[in-house]
Amino acid sequence: MKALVLGSGEAFDENFANTSVLIESETNLLLDCGFSVPPMLWRSHARVDALYLSHAHADHFFGVPAVLARMCDEPRREPLKIITQYDVWLRLGQVLELAYPASEAKRTFPLEFVEASAGASVALGELTLTFAPTRHSISNLAIRVACGERAICFSGDGAFTPQSKALYQGADLLFHEAYSFEQKNSHSQMEEVVAMAVEAQVKRLALTHIERGVRRNERGRVEALRYDTGIAVLLPKGGERIAV
Ligand SMILES: [Zn+2]
Repeated sequence: MKALVLGSGEAFDENFANTSVLIESETNLLLDCGFSVPPMLWRSHARVDALYLSHAHADHFFGVPAVLARMCDEPRREPLKIITQYDVWLRLGQVLELAYPASEAKRTFPLEFVEASAGASVALGELTLTFAPTRHSISNLAIRVACGERAICFSGDGAFTPQSKALYQGADLLFHEAYSFEQKNSHSQMEEVVAMAVEAQVKRLALTHIERGVRRNERGRVEALRYDTGIAVLLPKGGERIAV
């Protein structure tokens, strides 16, 4: 299994696309698709079999209309699975209709909704997906993608919870939002994320969704954090591919 990083940024960073990762296996699963992600996906020429959406914020799902429109252009015939919370699925329908009215009737392939819920498990080819809530301003589910003994986890947005920490236990690679050094109500604090990942025995931690001002002004502090732990702490950029 590989993780192709399409973006690792927060919502409004001019230098980093919104955080999005393509899991490459026999089945290719795209994790989130914000408004600045589509060009990164198209440049990769990667096939997408299924799409997971962690929550309904624009920097995590407003890229979907363009991605689907280009698939129709090709034209795609294979079904596309959309794995997400029921509320997000409903909102996605509204966003697709707003972006390209009446496009549903002209779509060249079916969308297949698969509900994600905390504690449930979804089989997707050789992959097994499980989910846990984080603490965010709206409902967000972190995901664990397991393939045999290997696992890649992805937080979406929000501070970690006991459930999401348990979801990450022993993961080979964890993409976790690490928004800032300050405590925020609905985002993770950088040092706490690293400490949590060490406790959860995560093998490699990729810090994502870092607030743009922190990237600009506190690079030394972020770098220092990477080398004070017993695990590998990565700062991935769009285009990087990480094998597990
Ligand atoms: Zn969000």
